[in-house]
Amino acid sequence: MQIPPFSLDEQISEIGDEIEEALIRVFRSGKYIGGDEVALFEKAFASAIQTSYSVSCNSGTDALILALRSLNIGEDDEVITSSFSFFATAEAITSVGARPVFVDIDPKNYLMDLGLIEKAITPRTKAILPVHLFGHPMDMDKIMAIAKINNLKVVEDCAQAAGANWRGKPVGSYGDVGCFSFFPTKNLGAAGDGGAITTNDCDLAKTIRELAIHGMPKRYFHTKIGYNSRLDSLQAAILNVKLTRLNKWIEKRNTIAINYISKLSTIESIELPSNNLINNSGHSWNQFVIRIMDNSFVENIKSIAACDFDHQNRDLFKTELHRLGINTIIYYPIPIHLQPAYKDLGYKEGSLPVTEKVCTQVISLPIFPELKSIHQSYVIDKIKEIYKK
Ligand SMILES: *Cc1c(COP(=O)(O)O)cnc(C)c1O
Repeated sequence: MQIPPFSLDEQISEIGDEIEEALIRVFRSGKYIGGDEVALFEKAFASAIQTSYSVSCNSGTDALILALRSLNIGEDDEVITSSFSFFATAEAITSVGARPVFVDIDPKNYLMDLGLIEKAITPRTKAILPVHLFGHPMDMDKIMAIAKINNLKVVEDCAQAAGANWRGKPVGSYGDVGCFSFFPTKNLGAAGDGGAITTNDCDLAKTIRELAIHGMPKRYFHTKIGYNSRLDSLQAAILNVKLTRLNKWIEKRNTIAINYISKLSTIESIELPSNNLINNSGHSWNQFVIRIMDNSFVENIKSIAACDFDHQNRDLFKTELHRLGINTIIYYPIPIHLQPAYKDLGYKEGSLPVTEKVCTQVISLPIFPELKSIHQSYVIDKIKEIYKK
């Protein structure tokens, strides 16, 4: 048996015909930039996220850059965020000239530790950039309260959290701007790159739209140095088909996640994702991330000969799953503050101890809406065997 961490095969057979029809329609129209599909998508996406405006762009990374630029965040400014995220979160901050200031995470949910945010605020702090990592919503009531007291902007990184909500209200509708990615492995994935920004602020939406198209409010009249960052009409056509299924897909992810949690909860040496949200879910389960807490399984694994005993327990566990046909991914093996590209920021090993520890323990189990229950049962059974006493 071979189980992938993520697969689009089933989804392609389910909605392939509908998507191909849409693609042919757009291709034959000869209009590839802007047009009805993009306008339709922006309207539908704003409605899904419950904001007044949505502006599409080329990627989640661009969405973050455009959001920061529209809020005039740049040189000499600091933005508070998490080092336990995809690199683009910090990359966007640096590319507008600002400085990322990382706070450590809460080991229960892998999100920025709410108790540490205020300690990181300096006179240069302009914004908080919460990351709804793996689809787990941050406590946006607390974030917005901290931002309000300290007069800070809030840019939400919702790249992994399309369809997630905090207390029933979608993420991306709380902050000044919400930033989404339609990279193919995200919950709402295009067939290529894509992104969007959500906001309730009419002026911000207008500024973002101008920045995304060369700072050009009128044809060949440029008021800002902007970017070329658009969502292709072909991608918009695909997203229009997929958006109507997003909630159904998240329900399926939720069922899979709850099943993992209930079946794996007897294993003491595995830390499961925090389940304080389960009843009132809100999690979009883009990833199902567990932590391998010790080496209690080592005697049971068969691939040990092929492994080096000095490896981290997590890596041994991953190798054994791989031997059994279960393919997993590590999100993320190295925290952003220890990436070579950021050596000049002044962080060292030990700067963010929880983040650094968690990076050595995490492993993402297969999760996607079409994951077959026999495949999930196989994953669960094999993990139980690995931990059998
Ligand atoms: C995917 C991702 C991004 C970047 O999105 P792209 O569309 O790939 O540019 C940013 N932040 C997080 C947390 C992500 O997972």
